[in-house]
Amino acid sequence: MSKLLLDAATRRAVLARAGELIDRYVDAVPGMRVTPRAEPAEVRAHVEALSFDRPVSPEQALAHLADGLDRYQVHTPHPRYFGLFNPAPATMSIAADALVAAYNPQMATWSHSPMGVEVERYLLRALGGRFGYPAGEVDGTFASGGAEANHTAVQAALHTAFPEIGVDGLAGLGRRPVLYASAEAHHSLHKAARVSGLGESAVRAVAIDDRLRMQPAALAQLIRDDRAAGLAPFLVVGTAGTTSAGIIDPLAEIAEVAAAEGLWYHVDAAWGGAAALIPELAGCLAGIEQSDSITIDAHKWLSVPMGAGLFITRRAGALARTFATRTAYMPRPVPGAPDPYAHSLQWSRRFIGAKLYLALAVAGWDGYAEALRHQVAMGDRLRRRLPSRRWRVVNDTPLPIVCFVDPELGGQRLGMIAARVQDQGRAWLSSTRLGGATTVLRACITNAGSGPGDIDRLITELDRARANLGGGKP
Ligand SMILES: *Cc1c(COP(=O)(O)O)cnc(C)c1O
Repeated sequence: MSKLLLDAATRRAVLARAGELIDRYVDAVPGMRVTPRAEPAEVRAHVEALSFDRPVSPEQALAHLADGLDRYQVHTPHPRYFGLFNPAPATMSIAADALVAAYNPQMATWSHSPMGVEVERYLLRALGGRFGYPAGEVDGTFASGGAEANHTAVQAALHTAFPEIGVDGLAGLGRRPVLYASAEAHHSLHKAARVSGLGESAVRAVAIDDRLRMQPAALAQLIRDDRAAGLAPFLVVGTAGTTSAGIIDPLAEIAEVAAAEGLWYHVDAAWGGAAALIPELAGCLAGIEQSDSITIDAHKWLSVPMGAGLFITRRAGALARTFATRTAYMPRPVPGAPDPYAHSLQWSRRFIGAKLYLALAVAGWDGYAEALRHQVAMGDRLRRRLPSRRWRVVNDTPLPIVCFVDPELGGQRLGMIAARVQDQGRAWLSSTRLGGATTVLRACITNAGSGPGDIDRLITELDRARANLGGGKP
């Protein structure tokens, strides 16, 4: 039997062992340090201890990988990881992803993976419906994450506004296409502009108000000025849950500006879009239903393992217009069943939707709402408790991201507090800058298993780190 496929008895043992290791990790993670102690040389020595000249047993190989992951990663599934949107993956999603690895469906064409392609279509429509898109109009694609979904938005809007560039390129256009986003928008937009040849300066930063929300009047003015200067606006991006502070732009007012100007309107709801699944909170996304397209990451607040982004659009034909291509070597398309490779940036790709499909199938909308609601409550608990410990909350959002400062301390000291909490290993939070200026501490709840005790422990760790700072003011 081939050393790659292994004989049946060994295969059975390996898969059982992998299952045990997964199960053991999930049980153990709450008791582990959140932050690794990892020097590059030490990690490299561990990695290179497996030599490809002297193969090891399957058992040794698995143990070596799990040991390295135990020791050398920030444990994002930890209940006191209050970090950058990375969740504790849903159990059904872990199982689904393992199944997908074994079946290895090829998602390039419908004909190779009818099950996988139709599951993803079903999910895109189901989530589109939650955002208020009319059922019959929903199209979209799964992507590696929010960055790819935002890149897809830039491309779809660009090729819809200027269909001729598909063949002739931007140079033939004679005008410079520009897009609009708030100064707090995610930098994947800048990256998309850079690599697509628009240039980063094509991303026009719209002024924000004192609550860090895009100002629709400033947007309208900037578009008018740009047109007068000979630029060619094609896209407006609103953010529903900014990465730093969970701020939701005034989505409905931005929709009006975009419609009046005839521009594609994309809403980047990579993390915050999950609020659409909490009935009493969905109102905070009002206006999103008027957008042309939406980014939402299942691997953030929807608790599936990386990478799982969704680009959802109600502009029929836009994806085909942007990405369609035909070759002699690909299987012939099935009528009425679009091939993903002619519909998206990727070609061969993984069945991304399975891990969301099974999580939703088992939790249901209600189960998701309950898990998300719990996380909102944990965010509220943190927001309520911080002031009594001389922390001041500085962001205004219904979502569970809390940005806060100690008014007595400067930005550098706040950064030191975050570093010290991380170092201690009992919790993880970060620091960031709001409005390009103010340094704040930032704690986000993205783990359905984070409980009140975890929130209180974070506050204890923060107080301790501050007390240990010593020294004077800044
Ligand atoms: C995380 C994030 C992205 C990028 O998504 P990835 O999944 O990391 O590629 C884009 N926009 C916003 C608002 C985000 O929070």
